[in-house]
Amino acid sequence: MENHVRVRFAPSPTGGLHLGGVRTVLFNYLFAKKHKGTFVLRVEDTDQTRFVEGAEQYIFDCLNWAGLNPDESPLNPGAYAPYRQSERKPMYRQYAEQLIAQCNAYYAFDTPEELEQMREQYKTPENPSPQYDHRTRGQMRNSLNLSPAEVQELIDAGTPYVIRIKMPENETVQFTDLIRGSISNETQLVDDKVLLKSDGMPTYHLAVVVDDYLMKITHAFRGEEWLPSAPIHILLWKYLGWENEMPHWAHLPLILKPDGNGKLSKRDGERLGFPVFAMEWKDPKTGDIVEGFKEKGFLPEAFINILAMLGWNAGTEQEIFSLEELCDLFSLERVHKGGAKFDYEKAKWYNQQHIQRADNARLAQLSKPYFEAKGVTVADDQKLEQAVAMVKERCHLLSDFAEQASFLFAAPVTHDLDAVKPKWTAEKSAFFTKWMDGLAQLDEPAAMEAAFGALAAEEGLKKGELMMPLRIMLVGGKFGPGVFDIIHFIGLEETKTRVQHVLAALA
Ligand code: GLU
Repeated sequence: MENHVRVRFAPSPTGGLHLGGVRTVLFNYLFAKKHKGTFVLRVEDTDQTRFVEGAEQYIFDCLNWAGLNPDESPLNPGAYAPYRQSERKPMYRQYAEQLIAQCNAYYAFDTPEELEQMREQYKTPENPSPQYDHRTRGQMRNSLNLSPAEVQELIDAGTPYVIRIKMPENETVQFTDLIRGSISNETQLVDDKVLLKSDGMPTYHLAVVVDDYLMKITHAFRGEEWLPSAPIHILLWKYLGWENEMPHWAHLPLILKPDGNGKLSKRDGERLGFPVFAMEWKDPKTGDIVEGFKEKGFLPEAFINILAMLGWNAGTEQEIFSLEELCDLFSLERVHKGGAKFDYEKAKWYNQQHIQRADNARLAQLSKPYFEAKGVTVADDQKLEQAVAMVKERCHLLSDFAEQASFLFAAPVTHDLDAVKPKWTAEKSAFFTKWMDGLAQLDEPAAMEAAFGALAAEEGLKKGELMMPLRIMLVGGKFGPGVFDIIHFIGLEETKTRVQHVLAALA
């Protein structure tokens, strides 16, 4: 790589951070690490009408949870501060003016009513929403049609105006996308986008180009949904005289809904019962709360692994990767063009795999809130760690620990007696009473099991027929680790209390 690699994630903080956004962060981050480059986070907050309280901090929190912290950001400014576009407002106007001087842009004074009138006038069945472009701009109140004196007069009178790019007619804008290869766009299909708004703020199109230039961005990776904007940006790079410094582009494939076609949306998540945001998002206006992968019980390293596999593969059978491995192996050549379907079951499998690799003490801390949410108090961290080790194999989500192991800390409230009753006999009842009377000390699980089997044989009963009732007495249902491991964990007193309780119910 000839230059020092500088990549950026440039979110507009307007709400929950979609997993596609975090995947963009991840690919930027991996590319930066692989090339010993710099990963920049720039906040694109020029649209003041879309300001959402707390949305920026939420993005920092999501990246921090995922372990993808930027090298430069509003929180950690580098040499190119400020990193919030709203704070860079004075920087943009000069470039818009330069474009006007070069006849690549123009002032437009049209009122909302005039714009509406234009749309009405040019509306046809084939073109129901005509745009401000080479076909219509000739009819509008802009500096292409007014004399310089008229323009000056309007400006002096304080008439609100915007600055629009003048898209050329019949030109082909060509560029090379690192994932998609050569891409060409016909300029007459693109409208004259606003570059500077009447409040003096740049729009995204101007700001993204100016900032990528000023911040010396070498590679711009973003979602496929930005592909239609690329010709505008490329022309701006050219018009501003920065073509030689233009970043390499890569438009990342969409993350698709599991069923049908199209981009995975928040609504798909609600419909199908899985998260699409990295972390819980609480809308400050509506108060609505949308659960994220974090709260759902995903480990950040699993979330990263899932995202990496949405659009990329290592070219081997390997599916489980740590962030360090991904940093080593990642290459844009192995990112696919086609969209990647999101599969929630597979996502949970990744999480299960990472849970197996995770440290038990950490899992204990992370799963504790789920026990608390169920009203199960876990006072002893050491015990929780042991419990975690006993059930982790069966856990796909951190919340599963509370499902799988609460009975280790609190006696079950309900019991699946239907599984026991049909084959229950007075002999079995007598057996359990005798067994309990003989339980004098807490032996190792294997020894206790051997003694249990020996007593069953003495009483002429099959051990196999007694194990399931015993499990139901201790656990409440037909799940959990080895029965004698459970006894060893909860102790003899508690075991006897639970067995007696169910014997009474069966009598
Ligand atoms: N601000 C844009 C967004 O919200 C960034 C697009 C880009 O990376 O160029 O996604």
